[in-house]
Parts: sequence; C-alpha cells; structure tokens
Amino acid sequence: MKPINKETALVVFSGGQDSTTCLFWAKKNFKRVEALTFRYGQKHIKEVETAEQIACDADVPWHFMDVSFIGKLAKNSLTDNSIIMDEKKPVDGPPNTFVPGRNLFFLSIAAVFAREHGISHLVTGVSETDFSGYPDCRDAFIKSLNVSLNLSMDEQFVIHTPLMWIDKAQTWALADELGVFDLVRTKTLTCYNGIIGKGCGECPACKLRREGLEKYMRLIREKE
Ligand code: ZN
Repeated sequence: MKPINKETALVVFSGGQDSTTCLFWAKKNFKRVEALTFRYGQKHIKEVETAEQIACDADVPWHFMDVSFIGKLAKNSLTDNSIIMDEKKPVDGPPNTFVPGRNLFFLSIAAVFAREHGISHLVTGVSETDFSGYPDCRDAFIKSLNVSLNLSMDEQFVIHTPLMWIDKAQTWALADELGVFDLVRTKTLTCYNGIIGKGCGECPACKLRREGLEKYMRLIREKE
C-alpha cells in the first residue's frame, strides 16, 4: 500500500446530478480527485458512459468496476426489467427503486480501492434531506459504516457527504456556486429511463430533479 495522501479524495461517481456536484465540490476542496464508477446491473449502461465523459471533461482520473452481482442479490426495479417502478414511496418500506446493499457495497469497495491507492478521503452524494426512503442514504448509516471501515482495515478513512443536509434546490445552488450549473443541467444523467440532461420528465428521479431546479430558479428570481 502507498503512504496515505491526505490531499486526495476518491468520489463514488455515477454521473448523476448529485455525484457530479460532489465531484466538483471535491475538486474545490482537495488537491487531487479521482472518480470511481460502478456498474451494479442498472438497466442503463449509458450511466457508465456518461460518468466517464464527465470525469474526462473534469480532468479527473476515472476508474470503473463491474459489480453487477449487487443488482442480482435482491429484487428491485432498477436492475430488473420485469418489475414496474414505484412512483411513490410505499407506506410499508422503501420504493422498489431501492437496491439493497448498494451504498454498503459501493463504499466498502471504494474504501479498499482507496486504501490500495493511498487515499483516505471518500466522497459520496447521498442525502438524508430529500429522502427517497433509502435507508443507506441516511447520516447514521454513513457514520456507522465509516467506523466499521476504519476498524476493518485499521485505517482512518473520512467519508464526506456534502449533500447530506441540503435539498435538491440547494444542490442546484451548490452546482451554481461551483460554476458547473450548466454542466450539471445538460450533461448529467439522473433519469431512471436513461435520458441525459432534462431526462424523461416522468420517473421519480426526474420529478425530484425538476422540482429542485424549479425551486432554485424561483429563489433566484425572487432575489433579483
Ligand atoms: Zn426520468
């Protein structure tokens, strides 16, 4: 293992609005940034291509890992074409867009990868604020995993979650502040139906993204 480089961060990077904002947040806060993208069996391989393109445009070394087994472990509508996507969060649990274990595996694998590359800072775009009902986006889980990862490898990883306590409108504001509002708006892929930028407009991810953008634009207009 290389000596720990405190000035480098590894971003868990999907090429969506949130992780792209995090990528540029990391570029502002660390001397060096690398990105790691996972294929977890998602229907739209375009996600991976989008992530690679954005990382290239951002001049960030990009790494890719195929962990498709994650999508096969449990039934969910992001990796299984036969399941119709939940429009809303059911009363009795997370929506079927929840991929159980996804952030647990992603961050654990990212930590091992980071250790091999002498990196101690991990960045992820999870948020508890616009909570879709995914338990692995909550702050308590991230903090607990951070402790477990440190214990498991006797390391001092720090998991950064710049979006944890901000909503989608504030995430747009952050992208704007970082000078990448247009890039995030036109180049990222959040849509569950695989459409870059504006998206399909219909899926839950598009709705959340659009509502956030509209709220942010309203706030800007009110300020003027
Ligand atoms: Zn969509």
